[in-house]
Amino acid sequence: MSYDATLLMTQFVTHDVQRLLLTRPEGFDWQPGQGVKVRIDNEEWRDEGRPFTPTSLPHDRLLEFVIKRYPEGDGLTVALHALKPGAGLKLSDPFGTITYQGSGTFIAAGTRLTPFLGILRQLAADDAVKGHQLLLTNKSKRDVICEKELQHYLGADCVLTFTREQEPGRQGRRIDADFLKSHVESFDGMFYICGPDAFVESINDHLQGLDVQPKQLVYEH
Ligand SMILES: Cc1cc2nc3c(=O)[nH]c(=O)nc-3n(C[C@H](O)[C@H](O)[C@H](O)COP(=O)(O)OP(=O)(O)OC[C@H]3O[C@@H](n4cnc5c(N)ncnc54)[C@H](O)[C@@H]3O)c2cc1C
Repeated sequence: MSYDATLLMTQFVTHDVQRLLLTRPEGFDWQPGQGVKVRIDNEEWRDEGRPFTPTSLPHDRLLEFVIKRYPEGDGLTVALHALKPGAGLKLSDPFGTITYQGSGTFIAAGTRLTPFLGILRQLAADDAVKGHQLLLTNKSKRDVICEKELQHYLGADCVLTFTREQEPGRQGRRIDADFLKSHVESFDGMFYICGPDAFVESINDHLQGLDVQPKQLVYEH
């Protein structure tokens, strides 16, 4: 099924990431963490959908997406960032295996934080954030989405790490087995992983090397 939405406003969140606020189509429902295919309702993009993750909550009256622009291919994200309020968008039914399945640790790379942003916002709305951790890797501090909001929810349980810079008080390194051993508070809960395929594969391998069971892992298949 396809749902029609209208762009209401855009706003920069980082130097290359925008928040897009859309009308919420009637009958469109999803679970925090799920993705949808987004198309622009014009001749060039009507048949070319790309997956993005709603970051607003199912009870909100508007839909929010947080979208990074990749200028290299002149693709949909470039066109989405150039849209003006009033533009028409088409959304698919929601899909995906990332949904909340119990307390634990969220591990994300870059803008693939978006499924966990939706889930954390839902947990915050339910006053149920305690007992969760977020490990988030970015190239540098300027790439972090919604840093203040994440720290507001999680405090010291929001662990930021940067692959291209070292900052006092922050970890300047990749997430590997040693990083997991020194930062994860408990290996008994769920682990939610989202990022490029190679990132997800390597985190899954590290976690299973630390005796985490496959049934504790939630990621996009
Ligand atoms: C289930 C799912 C949910 C997603 N949710 C979000 C979301 O909420 N917000 C968001 O910003 N993105 C999200 N993505 C990633 C998003 O789908 C891609 O960034 C988008 O499809 C790129 O489209 P494009 O046409 O602009 O780029 P293309 O023209 O397809 O690619 C142009 C170039 O950009 C680079 N590129 C494109 N995408 C990526 C990427 N993800 N990582 C690294 N390099 C890339 C590559 O170099 C590529 O050659 C999600 C992906 C999946 C699978």
